[in-house]
Amino acid sequence: MIPQNFEYSAPATLQEALQLISGGECKVMAGGMSLIPLMKLRLAAPEHVVDLGRVPGLNSISESGGVVCIGATATHHDIESSPVIRGRVPLLAEAASHIGDVQVRNRGTLGGSIAHADPAADYPASLLALEAKVRLVSANSDRTVEAADFFLDPFTTAVESGEIVLEVLVPIEEPREGYRYEKVPHPASGFAVVGVAARIKKAGGKTTLARIGVTGTGPRAFRALAAEKLLESGADVATAAAAVAEGQETNADLYASAEYRRHLTRVWAARALTLALSRAS
Ligand SMILES: Cc1cc2nc3c(=O)[nH]c(=O)nc-3n(C[C@H](O)[C@H](O)[C@H](O)COP(=O)(O)OP(=O)(O)OC[C@H]3O[C@@H](n4cnc5c(N)ncnc54)[C@H](O)[C@@H]3O)c2cc1C
Repeated sequence: MIPQNFEYSAPATLQEALQLISGGECKVMAGGMSLIPLMKLRLAAPEHVVDLGRVPGLNSISESGGVVCIGATATHHDIESSPVIRGRVPLLAEAASHIGDVQVRNRGTLGGSIAHADPAADYPASLLALEAKVRLVSANSDRTVEAADFFLDPFTTAVESGEIVLEVLVPIEEPREGYRYEKVPHPASGFAVVGVAARIKKAGGKTTLARIGVTGTGPRAFRALAAEKLLESGADVATAAAAVAEGQETNADLYASAEYRRHLTRVWAARALTLALSRAS
């Protein structure tokens, strides 16, 4: 299908982009991997599309003060292949490598993916496990929200009208941490039927920190807090994995019933935790 007519702008500075989106029926575009199909299906019909692709520096990846800063238009390929991310937050590079195919990873961006907030997207699980923050800016505001407060509902985030995702701030993983992202890809779309990101720190043979983020299982990505506590108090992987989906609303569709998704969540959580534990030293 052909989208409804729209005005197109490709601003050359961030200030210009923020001014353009500060009024009217407007959508920003990054990789266009989700927005363009929605417009073609006429599920989205913005009057004005503001392309962030020419804003200089918006795709930068840098490290400063114990935090890796990833610009909103960094592509999945940039993230998967960046030496800074592979060295400092390897869990995120691992998650990026699971997204779609080469074409999707070359065009799709971190900011676009998290702003779109598909409940089966890969990044949210890792960003929750990494305790990342999202910086949001508008023409007259600049605020930072925790990843845990960013994903609100399917396709709904903390981004307000006139704001864009500027960057994602990820605390550096300690070198001795173990990490793993495990995913059951949907056979048609490649999105996560279930995806589990795990981070583990150990000391004296005990788990001193466990962080588990889950995507695909429910209407929004979540931290498995009960399972984290169990691991930190000495429970084994099977016990913790069984608690991962506890108390969570579960998605159901033609491919996977709620019961099957809960089963996949338990099994894939056990896999992610086992590998993260074996990598922690
Ligand atoms: C065939 C295919 C397979 C895919 N497989 C997977 C997969 O396995 N796992 C996965 O996680 N994803 C998958 N995706 C989605 C892909 O990761 C896209 O990158 C993502 O959905 C959107 O990113 P984008 O940069 O293309 O954003 P766009 O399509 O340009 O924008 C998406 C939405 O985000 C908004 N937006 C974009 N940038 C910003 C910003 N900086 N600030 C605020 N709002 C913004 C737009 O207004 C729009 O509403 C797949 C997509 C396709 C087409």
